Amino acid sequence: MCGAGDLFRGWFTLVERCPRCSLRFERIDGHASGALGINTIVSVVVLFFVGVVGFIITFPELPLVPLTSTAVGVSVLFPIFFYPFSKTIWTAIDIRLRPLEPGEVAPGYSDWLDR
Ligand SMILES: [Zn+2]
Repeated sequence: MCGAGDLFRGWFTLVERCPRCSLRFERIDGHASGALGINTIVSVVVLFFVGVVGFIITFPELPLVPLTSTAVGVSVLFPIFFYPFSKTIWTAIDIRLRPLEPGEVAPGYSDWLDR
């Protein structure tokens, strides 16, 4: 979380370690479940707002097929779009909740240890 880019190979594969500070992203087993949780929460919020906006702009007609099709499309496509962001956002949250320990990042980045 030093701000380095180029963290993914393709859309879905996070590199094992940050190319700049050497942080290992999968800090513990099950790390990915946090990213899954973030992705699910954000996707549900987006789906909710899409539903509310669809309801408002079509009221009082409420065309079920277009609204449902849009909701299904958002439900499928948004989590795919958001996947890499969920990984890096969860890593930032994880570092905030479980601060870095000595040796987790390259020596020049160890000033993060007390944040
Ligand atoms: Zn880094």
